Amino acid sequence: MSVFDIGIIALGIAVLVGVFSRRKKNVEPPNEWEQRLRALEAQWNGVIERLDFGMMRIAIDGRIVLANAQALRYVGATEHDVAQHGVRCMRTPPDVARLCMQCAQSRERIREDVWLAQQQCALHVTYAPLDDGSLDVLVVMHDVTDVRRLERVRNEFVANVTHELKTPLAAIQGFAETLRSGALRDEETALQFLHIIGEEAERLNRLIGDVLDLSRMESGALDMHFSPIELGAFVQRTVRMLDAEAAKRAIVLRTEIESEAFIEADEDRLQQILINVLANAIAYAHDGGVVCIRIEEAVGDASDGGSTRIVVRDEGIGIPQEDVPRIFERFYRVDKARTRTSGGTGLGLSIVKHLVECHRGRISIDSEVGVGTTVAIELPNVQW
Ligand code: ATP
Ligand code: MG
Repeated sequence: MSVFDIGIIALGIAVLVGVFSRRKKNVEPPNEWEQRLRALEAQWNGVIERLDFGMMRIAIDGRIVLANAQALRYVGATEHDVAQHGVRCMRTPPDVARLCMQCAQSRERIREDVWLAQQQCALHVTYAPLDDGSLDVLVVMHDVTDVRRLERVRNEFVANVTHELKTPLAAIQGFAETLRSGALRDEETALQFLHIIGEEAERLNRLIGDVLDLSRMESGALDMHFSPIELGAFVQRTVRMLDAEAAKRAIVLRTEIESEAFIEADEDRLQQILINVLANAIAYAHDGGVVCIRIEEAVGDASDGGSTRIVVRDEGIGIPQEDVPRIFERFYRVDKARTRTSGGTGLGLSIVKHLVECHRGRISIDSEVGVGTTVAIELPNVQW
């Protein structure tokens, strides 16, 4: 339901309640028509109280003719406060009372966001002058905390992507320019620069791929194709893909397969998960170190087919405790200068987390600076 729809419903209710509240002044015994009206009033009051948006009808002299429970919660007032003090009772937010009066006098619709610090809540408030013969104002308060948070995250994401795209682009432009203005004549330098240009272009390519992946996952457009996978053989195959990278720095990749598990997973996505985690372990391990990949049965509830744990452990530089909780955030890198040389964008683990969740699994990281990092991925053996 849009804010506009809510406004229409609220307007209808407020007009009806306005009619009811005026009828109440009549002290003659209720006739049949009035009894029906009262039953209707009771019904509407029930509806108003259950609305999950705040609604108030305010008279031009500041009296609050109607306020539902949600509105009272937002403005931090009780029914008693409202009856006694009208708009003056509103403790938070201060602007609501002022804008009510402004709307009543100008007879113009006002829309504004207010932030309720105490309740950590963003409200979108609409003040609409009523033209039902009164000079009252209808106030509709709609919680937009999640919407605003999402907008902020999206804006930050766009800013981050732009920033990350600029860095390799600037490098490509810079080296191309240097080649054009003479470096091309020195073959050795030229080859070195071309190599860097190639690497930066590759980095751009990876970044664009990762951003596309993330946006597909977040919009729920990622199709998962589950099939049974023999985990032991699968892990050996995947590890072999990273052998060359590990060998460059004399890193040993050791597999410990304890459980001969078959699990139902999307093979390509599972490979993406494992490659990302292994690539991190290799990138942040010390030269000549060991990276261990272990498959074990997960202890716990096996009622729905059980689950299996894949644990990747390195004895590398580790992650400071304060960074561990943020490690799955998009673009989060512990030490940007250090990661830049390994070509990281800081998107790897956020993609991994999404993909693990697409398998109804869990991922956790345990790390100590100078000791190493352990990444544990727990996946259900069976998907629904
Ligand atoms: P990419 O998007 O290419 O994967 P990245 O590796 O920098 O880039 P993530 O995989 O999301 O990004 O990891 C985020 C950060 O977490 C890394 O930059 C690194 O600082 C830290 N990190 C991840 N894994 C490890 C590890 N095994 N040891 C130490 N630090 C790690
Ligand atoms: Mg990574």
